[in-house]
Amino acid sequence: MAFPTVRVFESYAATASEAFDAVMLLGDFSRPVPDDFSEFVAQAKQLDQRVGQQALLIPADVAGGRLILAPTGSLSCDYADVRFISDAAGTAARIAQQAGATSVLVVLFGIPSEERYNQAEAVAYWGICQALYEPLEAREFHGEGKLETLTTVGMIGALDEDWFQAVEAGKRVARDLAGTEPERMAPKRFAEYCQQAFAHTPVKVTVIDDLQQLQHEYPLFMAVARASVGVERHHPCVVRLEYKAPAAEQTLLLAGKGVVYDTGGADVKTGGHMAGMSRDKGGAAGVAGFVKTVAEMRPKTLSVVAELGLVRNSIGADAFVSDEIVTGHSGVRVRIGNTDAEGRLVLADLLSHLRVAASNYPRPQLFSVATLTGHAALAKGPYTALVPNGPARANLVAEQLWEAGEQYGDPAEISWLRREDFDMVRPRTKADDTLSSNTGPSATTKRGHQFPMAFLMIAAGLDKHGQDSEQPLPYVHVDIAGSGVEGGDWQHGKPTATPVTCFAGRYLQR
Ligand SMILES: [Zn+2]
Repeated sequence: MAFPTVRVFESYAATASEAFDAVMLLGDFSRPVPDDFSEFVAQAKQLDQRVGQQALLIPADVAGGRLILAPTGSLSCDYADVRFISDAAGTAARIAQQAGATSVLVVLFGIPSEERYNQAEAVAYWGICQALYEPLEAREFHGEGKLETLTTVGMIGALDEDWFQAVEAGKRVARDLAGTEPERMAPKRFAEYCQQAFAHTPVKVTVIDDLQQLQHEYPLFMAVARASVGVERHHPCVVRLEYKAPAAEQTLLLAGKGVVYDTGGADVKTGGHMAGMSRDKGGAAGVAGFVKTVAEMRPKTLSVVAELGLVRNSIGADAFVSDEIVTGHSGVRVRIGNTDAEGRLVLADLLSHLRVAASNYPRPQLFSVATLTGHAALAKGPYTALVPNGPARANLVAEQLWEAGEQYGDPAEISWLRREDFDMVRPRTKADDTLSSNTGPSATTKRGHQFPMAFLMIAAGLDKHGQDSEQPLPYVHVDIAGSGVEGGDWQHGKPTATPVTCFAGRYLQR
Protein backbone atom coordinates (compact mmCIF):
# COMPACT_ATOMS: atom_id res chain seq x y z
CA MET A 1 0.00 0.00 0.00
CA ALA A 2 1.53 3.27 -1.01
CA PHE A 3 -1.30 5.52 0.06
CA PRO A 4 -1.20 6.92 3.61
CA THR A 5 -2.22 4.54 6.37
CA VAL A 6 -4.92 5.70 8.79
CA ARG A 7 -4.32 5.63 12.53
CA VAL A 8 -7.28 6.32 14.80
CA PHE A 9 -7.17 7.86 18.30
CA GLU A 10 -9.85 8.43 20.91
CA SER A 11 -8.84 12.00 21.63
CA TYR A 12 -6.21 14.63 20.89
CA ALA A 13 -4.60 13.91 24.27
CA ALA A 14 -4.18 10.26 23.25
CA THR A 15 -1.92 11.27 20.37
CA ALA A 16 0.69 12.91 22.63
CA SER A 17 3.14 10.01 22.59
CA GLU A 18 2.90 9.46 18.82
CA ALA A 19 5.53 10.57 16.35
CA PHE A 20 3.50 12.86 14.10
CA ASP A 21 5.53 15.57 12.42
CA ALA A 22 2.64 17.94 11.60
CA VAL A 23 -0.89 18.71 12.77
CA MET A 24 -3.63 19.75 10.36
CA LEU A 25 -6.39 21.87 11.88
CA LEU A 26 -9.33 21.45 9.54
CA GLY A 27 -12.64 23.28 9.81
CA ASP A 28 -14.70 26.44 9.62
CA PHE A 29 -12.50 29.15 11.17
CA SER A 30 -15.46 31.44 11.75
CA ARG A 31 -16.34 29.01 14.55
CA PRO A 32 -14.35 28.62 17.80
CA VAL A 33 -10.99 26.86 17.40
CA PRO A 34 -10.33 24.01 19.91
CA ASP A 35 -8.60 25.15 23.13
CA ASP A 36 -5.41 23.21 22.36
CA PHE A 37 -4.81 25.45 19.34
CA SER A 38 -6.64 28.73 20.03
CA GLU A 39 -3.56 30.56 21.29
CA PHE A 40 -1.41 29.62 18.28
CA VAL A 41 -4.13 30.65 15.87
CA ALA A 42 -4.80 33.96 17.66
CA GLN A 43 -1.08 34.82 17.63
CA ALA A 44 -0.71 33.96 13.96
CA LYS A 45 -3.76 36.05 13.14
CA GLN A 46 -2.07 39.15 14.58
CA LEU A 47 0.74 38.73 12.06
CA ASP A 48 -1.13 37.42 9.07
CA GLN A 49 -4.65 38.28 7.98
CA ARG A 50 -4.78 35.18 5.80
CA VAL A 51 -5.14 33.00 8.90
CA GLY A 52 -8.53 31.29 8.70
CA GLN A 53 -8.96 32.41 5.08
CA GLN A 54 -6.54 30.13 3.26
CA ALA A 55 -4.34 27.12 3.94
CA LEU A 56 -1.15 28.08 5.81
CA LEU A 57 1.62 26.41 7.77
CA ILE A 58 2.46 28.18 11.04
CA PRO A 59 5.15 27.22 13.54
CA ALA A 60 3.52 26.11 16.81
CA ASP A 61 4.16 23.97 19.85
CA VAL A 62 2.46 20.89 18.38
CA ALA A 63 3.81 17.56 17.09
CA GLY A 64 6.62 18.29 14.64
CA GLY A 65 6.33 22.04 15.30
CA ARG A 66 4.13 22.44 12.23
CA LEU A 67 0.51 23.51 12.51
CA ILE A 68 -1.22 23.55 9.14
CA LEU A 69 -4.43 25.56 9.06
CA ALA A 70 -6.99 24.16 6.63
CA PRO A 71 -10.04 26.44 6.45
CA THR A 72 -13.12 24.98 4.77
CA GLY A 73 -15.06 28.23 4.51
CA SER A 74 -18.65 28.40 5.76
CA LEU A 75 -20.18 24.93 6.00
CA SER A 76 -23.69 26.13 6.77
CA CYS A 77 -24.51 27.98 3.55
CA ASP A 78 -27.15 26.51 1.22
CA TYR A 79 -24.76 25.15 -1.37
CA ALA A 80 -22.02 23.89 0.95
CA ASP A 81 -21.37 20.17 0.85
CA VAL A 82 -18.80 17.77 2.22
CA ARG A 83 -16.41 18.47 -0.65
CA PHE A 84 -15.55 21.73 1.14
CA ILE A 85 -13.85 19.44 3.65
CA SER A 86 -12.07 17.21 1.12
CA ASP A 87 -10.83 20.23 -0.86
CA ALA A 88 -9.45 21.94 2.25
CA ALA A 89 -7.83 18.70 3.43
CA GLY A 90 -6.25 18.15 0.02
CA THR A 91 -4.78 21.66 -0.17
CA ALA A 92 -3.36 21.38 3.35
CA ALA A 93 -1.97 17.90 2.60
CA ARG A 94 0.01 19.28 -0.33
CA ILE A 95 1.50 21.93 1.98
CA ALA A 96 2.34 19.23 4.55
CA GLN A 97 4.10 17.09 1.95
CA GLN A 98 5.99 20.03 0.44
CA ALA A 99 7.08 21.05 3.94
CA GLY A 100 8.61 17.61 4.39
CA ALA A 101 6.06 16.13 6.80
CA THR A 102 5.49 12.39 6.48
CA SER A 103 2.99 11.75 9.27
CA VAL A 104 0.12 14.18 9.81
CA LEU A 105 -2.47 14.27 12.55
CA VAL A 106 -5.78 15.70 11.33
CA VAL A 107 -8.00 17.55 13.82
CA LEU A 108 -11.48 18.49 12.63
CA PHE A 109 -13.47 21.25 14.31
CA GLY A 110 -16.51 23.41 13.70
CA ILE A 111 -18.25 20.80 11.54
CA PRO A 112 -22.05 21.33 11.77
CA SER A 113 -23.89 18.27 13.06
CA GLU A 114 -25.93 17.92 9.87
CA GLU A 115 -26.51 14.84 7.73
CA ARG A 116 -24.44 16.26 4.87
CA TYR A 117 -21.33 16.10 7.12
CA ASN A 118 -21.92 12.60 8.55
CA GLN A 119 -18.79 11.28 6.84
CA ALA A 120 -16.56 14.32 7.38
CA GLU A 121 -13.52 12.37 8.68
CA ALA A 122 -13.61 9.77 5.93
CA VAL A 123 -14.05 12.44 3.29
CA ALA A 124 -11.12 14.43 4.72
CA TYR A 125 -8.90 11.34 4.50
CA TRP A 126 -9.96 10.58 0.93
CA GLY A 127 -9.38 14.24 0.03
CA ILE A 128 -5.80 13.95 1.30
CA CYS A 129 -5.23 10.75 -0.69
CA GLN A 130 -6.73 12.27 -3.85
CA ALA A 131 -4.51 15.35 -3.57
CA LEU A 132 -1.30 13.37 -3.06
CA TYR A 133 -1.94 10.59 -5.59
CA GLU A 134 0.68 10.35 -8.32
CA PRO A 135 0.06 8.65 -11.70
CA LEU A 136 1.08 5.02 -12.16
CA GLU A 137 3.64 5.83 -14.86
CA ALA A 138 5.23 8.45 -12.58
CA ARG A 139 5.52 5.91 -9.75
CA GLU A 140 6.90 3.28 -12.10
CA PHE A 141 9.55 5.70 -13.37
CA HIS A 142 10.63 7.28 -10.09
CA GLY A 143 10.07 4.25 -7.87
CA GLU A 144 7.12 3.49 -5.64
CA GLY A 145 7.28 5.56 -2.46
CA LYS A 146 9.63 8.26 -3.80
CA LEU A 147 6.83 10.61 -4.82
CA GLU A 148 4.11 9.85 -2.30
CA THR A 149 6.03 10.62 0.88
CA LEU A 150 3.17 11.13 3.31
CA THR A 151 2.82 7.72 4.93
CA THR A 152 0.47 8.19 7.90
CA VAL A 153 -2.71 10.15 8.59
CA GLY A 154 -3.90 10.31 12.19
CA MET A 155 -7.61 10.88 12.83
CA ILE A 156 -9.60 11.38 16.03
CA GLY A 157 -12.95 9.77 16.86
CA ALA A 158 -14.83 6.48 16.79
CA LEU A 159 -13.73 5.71 13.24
CA ASP A 160 -13.26 2.56 11.15
CA GLU A 161 -9.80 2.79 9.59
CA ASP A 162 -10.26 -0.45 7.63
CA TRP A 163 -13.26 1.04 5.86
CA PHE A 164 -11.42 4.28 5.07
CA GLN A 165 -8.53 2.32 3.57
CA ALA A 166 -10.71 -0.17 1.71
CA VAL A 167 -12.36 2.68 -0.17
CA GLU A 168 -9.01 4.34 -0.86
CA ALA A 169 -7.58 1.05 -2.14
CA GLY A 170 -10.46 0.92 -4.62
CA LYS A 171 -10.06 4.55 -5.62
CA ARG A 172 -6.37 4.00 -6.23
CA VAL A 173 -7.08 1.09 -8.59
CA ALA A 174 -9.63 3.24 -10.41
CA ARG A 175 -7.20 6.17 -10.78
CA ASP A 176 -4.36 3.93 -11.95
CA LEU A 177 -6.52 2.28 -14.59
CA ALA A 178 -8.25 5.44 -15.79
CA GLY A 179 -5.29 7.80 -15.86
CA THR A 180 -2.67 5.77 -17.73
CA GLU A 181 -1.52 6.39 -21.27
CA PRO A 182 -2.92 4.10 -23.98
CA GLU A 183 0.05 1.74 -24.44
CA ARG A 184 0.72 1.26 -20.72
CA MET A 185 -2.93 0.33 -20.28
CA ALA A 186 -3.64 -1.42 -23.59
CA PRO A 187 -6.45 -3.99 -23.12
CA LYS A 188 -4.25 -6.96 -22.10
CA ARG A 189 -2.18 -4.81 -19.75
CA PHE A 190 -5.37 -3.51 -18.15
CA ALA A 191 -6.33 -7.16 -17.62
CA GLU A 192 -2.90 -7.91 -16.11
CA TYR A 193 -3.26 -5.00 -13.70
CA CYS A 194 -6.62 -6.46 -12.60
CA GLN A 195 -5.11 -9.91 -12.11
CA GLN A 196 -2.46 -8.41 -9.85
CA ALA A 197 -4.91 -6.16 -7.99
CA PHE A 198 -7.16 -9.13 -7.17
CA ALA A 199 -4.48 -11.75 -6.51
CA HIS A 200 -4.99 -13.33 -3.06
CA THR A 201 -8.49 -11.83 -2.75
CA PRO A 202 -11.85 -13.59 -2.95
CA VAL A 203 -12.52 -11.96 -6.34
CA LYS A 204 -12.26 -14.32 -9.30
CA VAL A 205 -10.78 -12.76 -12.44
CA THR A 206 -11.52 -14.23 -15.86
CA VAL A 207 -9.97 -12.78 -19.02
CA ILE A 208 -11.67 -13.55 -22.32
CA ASP A 209 -9.19 -12.75 -25.07
CA ASP A 210 -9.81 -15.41 -27.71
CA LEU A 211 -10.81 -13.39 -30.76
CA GLN A 212 -13.19 -16.02 -32.13
CA GLN A 213 -14.95 -16.39 -28.81
CA LEU A 214 -15.22 -12.63 -28.49
CA GLN A 215 -16.58 -12.34 -32.02
CA HIS A 216 -19.21 -14.93 -31.21
CA GLU A 217 -20.22 -13.65 -27.78
CA TYR A 218 -19.56 -9.91 -28.02
CA PRO A 219 -20.23 -8.94 -31.66
CA LEU A 220 -20.95 -5.23 -31.08
CA PHE A 221 -17.83 -4.94 -28.94
CA MET A 222 -15.85 -6.63 -31.71
CA ALA A 223 -17.15 -4.19 -34.31
CA VAL A 224 -15.47 -1.46 -32.25
CA ALA A 225 -12.33 -3.63 -31.95
CA ARG A 226 -12.11 -4.45 -35.66
CA ALA A 227 -9.49 -1.89 -36.70
CA SER A 228 -7.33 -2.79 -33.69
CA VAL A 229 -7.09 -6.50 -34.47
CA GLY A 230 -4.20 -6.02 -36.93
CA VAL A 231 -1.96 -4.84 -34.09
CA GLU A 232 -1.37 -7.62 -31.61
CA ARG A 233 -0.60 -5.48 -28.57
CA HIS A 234 -3.89 -3.62 -29.11
CA HIS A 235 -6.03 -6.78 -29.14
CA PRO A 236 -9.29 -6.47 -27.16
CA CYS A 237 -10.40 -8.48 -24.16
CA VAL A 238 -13.27 -8.74 -21.70
CA VAL A 239 -12.43 -8.99 -18.01
CA ARG A 240 -14.96 -10.60 -15.72
CA LEU A 241 -14.74 -10.01 -11.97
CA GLU A 242 -16.83 -12.06 -9.56
CA TYR A 243 -17.28 -11.80 -5.83
CA LYS A 244 -19.59 -14.40 -4.27
CA ALA A 245 -20.93 -13.43 -0.86
CA PRO A 246 -21.09 -16.29 1.67
CA ALA A 247 -24.77 -15.58 2.38
CA ALA A 248 -25.84 -13.63 -0.69
CA GLU A 249 -29.10 -11.68 -0.46
CA GLN A 250 -28.44 -9.08 -3.11
CA THR A 251 -26.36 -8.83 -6.29
CA LEU A 252 -24.84 -5.97 -8.23
CA LEU A 253 -24.04 -6.60 -11.89
CA LEU A 254 -21.88 -3.87 -13.41
CA ALA A 255 -20.73 -3.22 -16.97
CA GLY A 256 -17.73 -0.92 -17.44
CA LYS A 257 -16.74 0.88 -20.64
CA GLY A 258 -13.02 0.38 -21.09
CA VAL A 259 -12.13 2.10 -24.34
CA VAL A 260 -8.39 2.37 -23.76
CA TYR A 261 -8.11 4.82 -26.62
CA ASP A 262 -10.86 6.44 -28.63
CA THR A 263 -9.76 7.89 -31.96
CA GLY A 264 -13.44 8.13 -32.87
CA GLY A 265 -12.84 5.36 -35.40
CA ALA A 266 -13.80 6.09 -39.02
CA ASP A 267 -15.70 9.13 -37.70
CA VAL A 268 -12.31 10.30 -36.52
CA LYS A 269 -12.02 12.95 -33.82
CA THR A 270 -10.63 16.15 -35.34
CA GLY A 271 -9.75 19.65 -34.18
CA GLY A 272 -7.71 18.48 -31.19
CA HIS A 273 -10.58 16.51 -29.64
CA MET A 274 -8.62 13.24 -29.55
CA ALA A 275 -6.20 14.30 -26.79
CA GLY A 276 -7.27 12.88 -23.46
CA MET A 277 -9.12 9.93 -25.01
CA SER A 278 -6.88 7.48 -23.14
CA ARG A 279 -9.24 8.30 -20.27
CA ASP A 280 -12.20 6.78 -22.11
CA LYS A 281 -11.67 3.68 -19.98
CA GLY A 282 -12.76 5.50 -16.82
CA GLY A 283 -15.98 3.48 -16.51
CA ALA A 284 -14.19 0.12 -16.48
CA ALA A 285 -11.62 1.66 -14.13
CA GLY A 286 -14.34 2.86 -11.74
CA VAL A 287 -16.02 -0.55 -11.74
CA ALA A 288 -12.72 -2.36 -11.11
CA GLY A 289 -12.02 0.10 -8.30
CA PHE A 290 -15.37 -0.56 -6.67
CA VAL A 291 -14.78 -4.31 -6.90
CA LYS A 292 -11.39 -3.76 -5.23
CA THR A 293 -13.19 -2.14 -2.29
CA VAL A 294 -15.58 -5.11 -2.28
CA ALA A 295 -12.56 -7.43 -2.16
CA GLU A 296 -11.23 -5.56 0.88
CA MET A 297 -14.57 -5.38 2.70
CA ARG A 298 -15.78 -8.92 1.87
CA PRO A 299 -19.47 -8.19 2.42
CA LYS A 300 -21.45 -11.16 3.75
CA THR A 301 -24.69 -10.66 1.86
CA LEU A 302 -23.76 -8.72 -1.29
CA SER A 303 -22.45 -10.50 -4.39
CA VAL A 304 -20.90 -8.53 -7.25
CA VAL A 305 -20.34 -9.48 -10.88
CA ALA A 306 -18.59 -7.09 -13.26
CA GLU A 307 -17.75 -7.21 -16.94
CA LEU A 308 -15.20 -4.78 -18.32
CA GLY A 309 -15.00 -4.29 -22.09
CA LEU A 310 -11.41 -3.35 -22.94
CA VAL A 311 -10.87 -2.23 -26.47
CA ARG A 312 -9.16 0.36 -28.59
CA ASN A 313 -11.38 2.27 -31.01
CA SER A 314 -8.72 2.49 -33.70
CA ILE A 315 -8.89 3.76 -37.24
CA GLY A 316 -7.72 1.71 -40.20
CA ALA A 317 -8.67 -0.10 -43.38
CA ASP A 318 -10.85 -2.57 -41.47
CA ALA A 319 -12.57 0.03 -39.28
CA PHE A 320 -16.32 -0.37 -38.85
CA VAL A 321 -18.32 2.45 -40.39
CA SER A 322 -21.70 4.14 -40.07
CA ASP A 323 -24.65 2.38 -41.79
CA GLU A 324 -23.36 -1.11 -40.95
CA ILE A 325 -25.88 -3.40 -39.26
CA VAL A 326 -24.38 -5.54 -36.50
CA THR A 327 -26.36 -8.10 -34.52
CA GLY A 328 -25.49 -7.92 -30.84
CA HIS A 329 -25.29 -10.69 -28.23
CA SER A 330 -28.94 -10.02 -27.45
CA GLY A 331 -29.94 -10.79 -31.05
CA VAL A 332 -30.91 -7.16 -31.61
CA ARG A 333 -29.83 -5.73 -34.97
CA VAL A 334 -28.02 -2.43 -34.46
CA ARG A 335 -27.60 0.15 -37.22
CA ILE A 336 -24.37 2.04 -36.60
CA GLY A 337 -25.06 5.78 -36.57
CA ASN A 338 -21.59 7.08 -35.76
CA THR A 339 -18.40 5.19 -34.95
CA ASP A 340 -17.48 7.69 -32.24
CA ALA A 341 -20.55 6.50 -30.31
CA GLU A 342 -18.68 3.27 -29.61
CA GLY A 343 -19.03 3.08 -25.85
CA ARG A 344 -22.70 2.14 -25.99
CA LEU A 345 -21.86 -0.73 -28.38
CA VAL A 346 -19.32 -2.08 -25.91
CA LEU A 347 -21.77 -1.73 -23.02
CA ALA A 348 -24.72 -3.27 -24.88
CA ASP A 349 -22.98 -6.64 -25.23
CA LEU A 350 -21.66 -6.60 -21.65
CA LEU A 351 -25.13 -5.71 -20.33
CA SER A 352 -26.69 -8.45 -22.41
CA HIS A 353 -24.40 -11.00 -20.74
CA LEU A 354 -25.20 -9.57 -17.32
CA ARG A 355 -28.91 -9.66 -18.13
CA VAL A 356 -28.62 -13.41 -18.77
CA ALA A 357 -26.47 -13.91 -15.64
CA ALA A 358 -28.90 -11.93 -13.48
CA SER A 359 -31.39 -14.80 -13.32
CA ASN A 360 -28.80 -16.87 -11.36
CA TYR A 361 -28.43 -14.36 -8.57
CA PRO A 362 -30.63 -13.07 -5.72
CA ARG A 363 -32.13 -9.55 -6.05
CA PRO A 364 -30.07 -8.40 -9.02
CA GLN A 365 -29.47 -4.75 -9.89
CA LEU A 366 -27.69 -3.79 -13.13
CA PHE A 367 -25.47 -0.82 -13.85
CA SER A 368 -23.47 0.50 -16.78
CA VAL A 369 -20.63 2.86 -15.91
CA ALA A 370 -19.01 4.92 -18.65
CA THR A 371 -17.45 8.14 -19.82
CA LEU A 372 -20.22 8.05 -22.37
CA THR A 373 -21.28 11.49 -23.58
CA GLY A 374 -19.97 15.03 -23.75
CA HIS A 375 -23.58 15.95 -23.11
CA ALA A 376 -23.43 14.58 -19.56
CA ALA A 377 -20.54 16.96 -18.85
CA LEU A 378 -22.40 19.84 -20.44
CA ALA A 379 -25.67 19.14 -18.63
CA LYS A 380 -24.26 18.18 -15.21
CA GLY A 381 -20.85 19.85 -15.02
CA PRO A 382 -18.66 17.86 -12.63
CA TYR A 383 -21.48 15.57 -11.44
CA THR A 384 -22.16 11.97 -12.38
CA ALA A 385 -25.42 11.48 -14.29
CA LEU A 386 -27.65 8.61 -13.11
CA VAL A 387 -30.35 7.43 -15.52
CA PRO A 388 -32.66 4.77 -13.99
CA ASN A 389 -35.07 2.45 -15.83
CA GLY A 390 -38.62 1.77 -14.56
CA PRO A 391 -37.81 -0.97 -12.00
CA ALA A 392 -34.84 1.07 -10.69
CA ARG A 393 -37.18 4.03 -10.37
CA ALA A 394 -39.71 1.95 -8.46
CA ASN A 395 -36.98 0.74 -6.09
CA LEU A 396 -35.34 4.18 -5.64
CA VAL A 397 -31.98 2.77 -6.77
CA ALA A 398 -30.74 6.07 -8.23
CA GLU A 399 -32.10 8.10 -5.30
CA GLN A 400 -30.15 5.98 -2.81
CA LEU A 401 -26.96 6.37 -4.85
CA TRP A 402 -27.59 10.12 -5.02
CA GLU A 403 -27.92 10.28 -1.23
CA ALA A 404 -24.72 8.29 -0.69
CA GLY A 405 -22.90 10.49 -3.20
CA GLU A 406 -23.86 13.61 -1.25
CA GLN A 407 -22.66 12.26 2.09
CA TYR A 408 -19.51 10.57 0.83
CA GLY A 409 -18.37 13.43 -1.37
CA ASP A 410 -18.88 11.72 -4.73
CA PRO A 411 -22.00 13.55 -5.89
CA ALA A 412 -24.36 12.62 -8.71
CA GLU A 413 -27.57 13.94 -10.21
CA ILE A 414 -30.52 12.01 -11.58
CA SER A 415 -31.84 12.29 -15.14
CA TRP A 416 -35.09 10.76 -16.35
CA LEU A 417 -35.69 8.61 -19.38
CA ARG A 418 -38.47 9.93 -21.71
CA ARG A 419 -40.35 8.82 -24.79
CA GLU A 420 -38.26 11.18 -26.96
CA ASP A 421 -35.19 9.12 -26.00
CA PHE A 422 -36.72 5.97 -27.52
CA ASP A 423 -37.88 7.88 -30.57
CA MET A 424 -34.30 8.98 -31.18
CA VAL A 425 -33.04 5.39 -31.57
CA ARG A 426 -36.07 3.87 -33.31
CA PRO A 427 -35.37 1.78 -36.42
CA ARG A 428 -35.96 3.66 -39.68
CA THR A 429 -36.41 0.48 -41.77
CA LYS A 430 -37.17 -3.20 -41.20
CA ALA A 431 -33.50 -3.96 -41.83
CA ASP A 432 -32.55 -3.13 -38.24
CA ASP A 433 -34.06 -2.91 -34.75
CA THR A 434 -32.40 0.21 -33.42
CA LEU A 435 -30.06 3.06 -34.37
CA SER A 436 -26.98 3.53 -32.20
CA SER A 437 -26.65 7.27 -32.50
CA ASN A 438 -27.33 10.43 -34.44
CA THR A 439 -24.47 11.87 -36.49
CA GLY A 440 -23.75 15.06 -34.54
CA PRO A 441 -21.70 15.41 -31.34
CA SER A 442 -23.66 14.53 -28.20
CA ALA A 443 -22.88 17.91 -26.65
CA THR A 444 -24.99 19.63 -29.31
CA THR A 445 -27.72 16.98 -29.30
CA LYS A 446 -30.92 17.44 -27.29
CA ARG A 447 -31.12 14.86 -24.51
CA GLY A 448 -27.64 13.72 -25.56
CA HIS A 449 -26.92 11.78 -22.35
CA GLN A 450 -30.41 10.41 -21.77
CA PHE A 451 -31.22 8.89 -25.16
CA PRO A 452 -28.15 6.57 -25.17
CA MET A 453 -29.77 4.87 -22.16
CA ALA A 454 -32.77 4.05 -24.37
CA PHE A 455 -30.37 2.52 -26.87
CA LEU A 456 -28.62 0.49 -24.16
CA MET A 457 -31.93 -0.90 -22.95
CA ILE A 458 -32.99 -1.97 -26.44
CA ALA A 459 -29.60 -3.25 -27.66
CA ALA A 460 -28.98 -5.24 -24.46
CA GLY A 461 -32.49 -6.71 -24.41
CA LEU A 462 -33.27 -4.92 -21.16
CA ASP A 463 -36.37 -3.32 -22.66
CA LYS A 464 -37.95 -6.75 -22.03
CA HIS A 465 -37.34 -6.29 -18.29
CA GLY A 466 -39.28 -3.14 -17.56
CA GLN A 467 -41.75 -2.62 -14.74
CA ASP A 468 -44.53 -4.10 -16.90
CA SER A 469 -42.61 -7.35 -17.60
CA GLU A 470 -42.64 -10.71 -15.84
CA GLN A 471 -39.02 -10.24 -14.78
CA PRO A 472 -38.40 -6.59 -13.94
CA LEU A 473 -34.68 -5.80 -13.63
CA PRO A 474 -33.60 -2.58 -11.96
CA TYR A 475 -30.97 -0.93 -14.13
CA VAL A 476 -29.20 2.41 -13.76
CA HIS A 477 -26.93 3.89 -16.39
CA VAL A 478 -24.09 5.90 -14.83
CA ASP A 479 -22.44 8.50 -17.09
CA ILE A 480 -19.20 9.85 -15.59
CA ALA A 481 -18.10 11.96 -18.58
CA GLY A 482 -18.39 15.12 -16.47
CA SER A 483 -17.14 13.70 -13.18
CA GLY A 484 -14.37 11.30 -14.19
CA VAL A 485 -11.42 13.71 -14.09
CA GLU A 486 -10.67 16.81 -12.04
CA GLY A 487 -11.66 20.08 -13.65
CA GLY A 488 -13.18 18.31 -16.67
CA ASP A 489 -9.68 18.30 -18.19
CA TRP A 490 -9.57 14.97 -20.00
CA GLN A 491 -5.98 15.33 -21.11
CA HIS A 492 -4.32 16.40 -17.86
CA GLY A 493 -6.89 16.25 -15.05
CA LYS A 494 -6.31 13.74 -12.27
CA PRO A 495 -8.87 10.90 -12.34
CA THR A 496 -11.42 11.27 -9.53
CA ALA A 497 -12.12 7.53 -9.19
CA THR A 498 -15.83 8.18 -9.38
CA PRO A 499 -18.18 6.37 -8.75
CA VAL A 500 -16.18 4.16 -6.33
CA THR A 501 -17.00 6.18 -3.21
CA CYS A 502 -20.64 6.67 -4.13
CA PHE A 503 -21.19 2.93 -4.67
CA ALA A 504 -19.10 1.94 -1.65
CA GLY A 505 -21.02 4.36 0.57
CA ARG A 506 -24.33 3.03 -0.69
CA TYR A 507 -23.61 -0.70 -0.65
CA LEU A 508 -20.60 -1.49 1.53
CA GLN A 509 -20.49 0.58 4.65
CA ARG A 510 -20.77 -1.62 7.72
ZN1 LIG B 1 -16.18 7.79 -28.90
